[in-house]
Amino acid sequence: MTPAQEPVVREPAAENPAPLRKRATSPLAHTRSEAPRTPAPSGGGLPYQGPERGKFGDIELSGAVAAALAEMGYVDPSPIQMEAVPGCIEGRDLVGQAITGSGKTAAFGIPICERIDPYDRNVQAIVLVPTRELAMQVTREVERIGKYRGVSVCAVYGGQPIQRQLQQLQRGANVVVGTPGRIMDHMGRGTLDLQHVKVAVLDEADEMLDIGFADDMEFILRRTPRTRQTLLFSATIPGFVRKLIRRYQDDPMWIQLGAEIQTVDEVDQIYFEVAERDKEAALRLVLNDVEKDARILVFRRTQIGVDRLARALKSQTLPVMGLHGGLSQGERNEAMGKFRSGELSILVSTNVAARGIDIPEISHVFNYDLPNNVEEYVHRIGRTARMGRRGYAVSFVAEWDFEGWEKIRSHLGDGRLVQGKLPFYD
Ligand code: AMP
Repeated sequence: MTPAQEPVVREPAAENPAPLRKRATSPLAHTRSEAPRTPAPSGGGLPYQGPERGKFGDIELSGAVAAALAEMGYVDPSPIQMEAVPGCIEGRDLVGQAITGSGKTAAFGIPICERIDPYDRNVQAIVLVPTRELAMQVTREVERIGKYRGVSVCAVYGGQPIQRQLQQLQRGANVVVGTPGRIMDHMGRGTLDLQHVKVAVLDEADEMLDIGFADDMEFILRRTPRTRQTLLFSATIPGFVRKLIRRYQDDPMWIQLGAEIQTVDEVDQIYFEVAERDKEAALRLVLNDVEKDARILVFRRTQIGVDRLARALKSQTLPVMGLHGGLSQGERNEAMGKFRSGELSILVSTNVAARGIDIPEISHVFNYDLPNNVEEYVHRIGRTARMGRRGYAVSFVAEWDFEGWEKIRSHLGDGRLVQGKLPFYD
């Protein structure tokens, strides 16, 4: 099909509820100088004749996008889609800490397809991805979602003859998906103009950083309008990604998926060498220095250890409870509920009992007893520094722990861990 030459029926825009199906040209056609107002060439699917509005689970969408999703077999939104799509359609910025497999592509693909005007042949959305494979995958997904809206998508990446991409860009594309290097190449040749971009997506920003695209990401973002919406996806938030968020996003929504996402980079990690018998005194000393509103999760190895420490801290009138599998469900719920609400600022827990804890307010994790291996360490300290907050991990290394600690330390690499000194050993 060659819709570029044909007057194609337009899917009604949300802001213009008139039955545009019957129109041969866009209602905006006479207000703009550029001709012709037909959608850029797309994968097909037009003319769309279905209902004007539709639903994807509980999310309201244009009929065209809803129909495409139904055809793709997407019946219910995934958790990230549920949280991201409505706000993104309204134009809000987003940080999504999610990995491939979460449905993140549609989480930004749906808002893109809703927000762009397929009758405007300028590039209105740009998606930066780290690899060619991801560029192809994202292109396919956005094309399918936008099929009935007439959204045209162009993939640009290295390793494919540039000529083909040039032709596609010349014909007009609403969405460009590509790797930063090739996108900059097109910008340099004057074949890609980002002045009309409404939505910019950084997909797998941490990966792009690792590959060496840091400067390119910034270069490209700076050449899009300041008014653009910026959606950033990254499994982790290292320092540079944090900088991107601060510089290029405006009060973004934060969506963090799953308890398994490891955010070690945002955690300040400190350790103290301390004799087993002095650990409690050391804990009290360090607690004296934390802010009043700190939310502290303390790990102990055994249930008895949890009970003992919770009792000892409580006797010093600290707002603390213990959590472990030996308690009744009621007791566990009470401890979790009070810690979650902030009524308790300290929770002492075993590993197992803390598994499901996902409380963004947790500011400090104490390894009162060291974890058994690096995975457990990373998992524990991943309880803090959530939703873009800073976190602190404090580890006590006792006389029996040196060997195990060395293993964890060598895995984490130098520069991550700072050794602290306890005044009573001076
Ligand atoms: P992604 O994380 O975007 O790579 O998506 C992971 C997989 O889930 C892909 O195969 C998608 O096609 C699929 N997918 C995404 N959203 C949905 C949904 N709401 N319902 C069913 N499948 C989905």
